[in-house]
Amino acid sequence: MTEPAAVLAGALRSICMELPNHEQYLNELDSALGDGDHGQTISRCVRAIEGSLDAAPDLALPAGLFAAGRAVVATAGGASGALIGSALIAAGRAAQSSPRAQSDARQAADLLAAAGREVAARGRAAPGDKTMLDALEPAAAAARRVADAGGSVAEAIRGAAEAAERGAAATGAMIGRAGRAGRLGERSLGHDDPGAVSTALMLRIAAEYLSGAGEP
Ligand code: ADP
Ligand code: MG
Repeated sequence: MTEPAAVLAGALRSICMELPNHEQYLNELDSALGDGDHGQTISRCVRAIEGSLDAAPDLALPAGLFAAGRAVVATAGGASGALIGSALIAAGRAAQSSPRAQSDARQAADLLAAAGREVAARGRAAPGDKTMLDALEPAAAAARRVADAGGSVAEAIRGAAEAAERGAAATGAMIGRAGRAGRLGERSLGHDDPGAVSTALMLRIAAEYLSGAGEP
């Protein structure tokens, strides 16, 4: 069994390699609901995370999440940069406090749940407001279900990715109530939320990394 910190670092590296390929698409989604820069914000998040991994590649799980989160908060900018960075830091706190005896899959579910609570609190957003939370919250719930049923980390993150994709697809039918999309009201209908889509992409890339990394 690979150490959780090494699994996290590998998954983050995969996300950093692949997510920038979607920059243009995420910008286009954000053009319909905001200011067209979400892909750029995400690419800045990626560069910040790469910098933190390069600076300290072998940190323990909480410290690795703190370093990545602080780097994102410091440099990524935008509403989503602050939220993603804070969510990583909140996941680091959860990693510090989660009991050692539980499974890695349960720890992964704890981290996703903590990230979701942080986004809800900091963004003053609730599920249904057409934000990244509409991907993250069902993702955390799905990971919890898989973990409680005895699934592996790879299975938990695969379940999370599927739930996040369904959640992101459902945002098209939601009226924006947070961030820039919140200013559009009913005009936001028919457009998927860029932050929900990027969250689903991150989880899908992580799931594919885990299934190829020999995790069952
Ligand atoms: P900005 O709105 O500053 O240009 P981005 O374009 O990078 O930031 O990110 C926009 C995304 O951030 C939205 O699609 C949404 O998912 C997320 N977001 C914005 N505001 C909030 C909020 N208050 N709560 C939760 N998520 C939010
Ligand atoms: Mg934007």
